[in-house]
Amino acid sequence: MSVIDKVSSQQAIDLENKYGAHNYHPLPVVLNRGEGVHVWDVEGKQYYDFLSAYSAVNQGHCHPKIVGAMTKQAETLTLTSRAFYNDILGKYEEYAANYFKFDKILPMNTGAEAVETALKLCRKWAYEKKGIAENEAEIIVCENNFHGRTTTIISFSNDPVARDNFGPYTNGFIKVAYDDYEALEKLLESNKNIAGFMAEPIQGEAGVYVPSDDYLIKAKALCEKHNVLFIADEVQTGIARTGRLLATCGNCSCPNKDCSGTPDVKPDVLILGKALSGGAYPVSAVLANDDVMSVIQPGTHGSTFGGNPISAAVAMAALEVVKDEKLAENAFVLGELFRAELNKYIETSTICKLVRGKGLLNAIVINDDEEGDTAWNICLSLRDNGLLAKPTHGNIIRFAPPLVMTEKQLLECVSIITETLKEFEI
Ligand SMILES: *Cc1c(COP(=O)(O)O)cnc(C)c1O
Repeated sequence: MSVIDKVSSQQAIDLENKYGAHNYHPLPVVLNRGEGVHVWDVEGKQYYDFLSAYSAVNQGHCHPKIVGAMTKQAETLTLTSRAFYNDILGKYEEYAANYFKFDKILPMNTGAEAVETALKLCRKWAYEKKGIAENEAEIIVCENNFHGRTTTIISFSNDPVARDNFGPYTNGFIKVAYDDYEALEKLLESNKNIAGFMAEPIQGEAGVYVPSDDYLIKAKALCEKHNVLFIADEVQTGIARTGRLLATCGNCSCPNKDCSGTPDVKPDVLILGKALSGGAYPVSAVLANDDVMSVIQPGTHGSTFGGNPISAAVAMAALEVVKDEKLAENAFVLGELFRAELNKYIETSTICKLVRGKGLLNAIVINDDEEGDTAWNICLSLRDNGLLAKPTHGNIIRFAPPLVMTEKQLLECVSIITETLKEFEI
């Protein structure tokens, strides 16, 4: 079969099954086009995308400004490696550093690479600035974390599927319960070798767990007290997804100064990925101020594609779209509406027990056990009804549409979701 032949959904699925490693279990739908909040399958059926490629497509599918920047740069210069300078990386670095209010950015490609970069940065800082003895540094991570798939990252996962039979594992990590300030305090007070504390501001893959309002603020204060770096993994929560530019916000230029109860925390190390490119290209980054980033010197870290000209052009365009189209504001307003509407339905529902989230990062909990197949079957029905979503953990369905959605579209989606849930009421 030639690559330009048109394939049916079944043919495409069969090809992946036969020739691709089985490292995913996709919902059976085969897409070949996307625009804004919509995607289309190869038979031409239109869907609302309620996953947004795990929050990478916050700016909507094939945003013309992002695609335009990408194609223009692709025709001019694609890759120089960092052996030489190019005329766009510096511009991007200045733009992103000012945008997120950090002194410096270290550009990488995927989220997992950026997490690895942050961990290396933290360890080096611990030895060269904090004065921890060689090879003694430890980094605290949270239970049920998701930070990616590299050998080091899965070493501190507690998901057996992600971890089992991939050992031996990387040492130097301690797990603490998420959203448990006292447990964190105990660890910090009893161990002088802690270099950093890494957390997701909302645990996305774990099932959209939103911590208590003051958790991140108190955790950051604890880190300051013990001279420990607070590392925020905002690969999924960042770039307007939760109704602010960042879920930790810091002193960013977020439009929703009035969203009460939302933490206002400036991480020492910020990890971004996914929507940093609007889903057009793999672009990730680590941001920090000079006192931390200065430990990185020539030869200590790198990536052939990290900070390549296309990624620089794409990321600048993607970040401009977030500001120009007020996506944080839109996510905030639509998120409130989404949860309010679903809560009305849940009052009398037996199948759906709970909706939770912030901005347009939400999840519903289905009345079934973790191993049950109700959530999967609901997603199949949602697909048939024109909306694509996927269970995160057994009985939890995440809802994360592109942030360019209108109120009218969101209400239409709410009705697709509630009508679908009705099919499953007992
Ligand atoms: C997706 C994700 C990652 C990993 O990103 P990849 O680009 O898939 O490597 C890391 N951290 C969080 C919080 C994520 O959601």
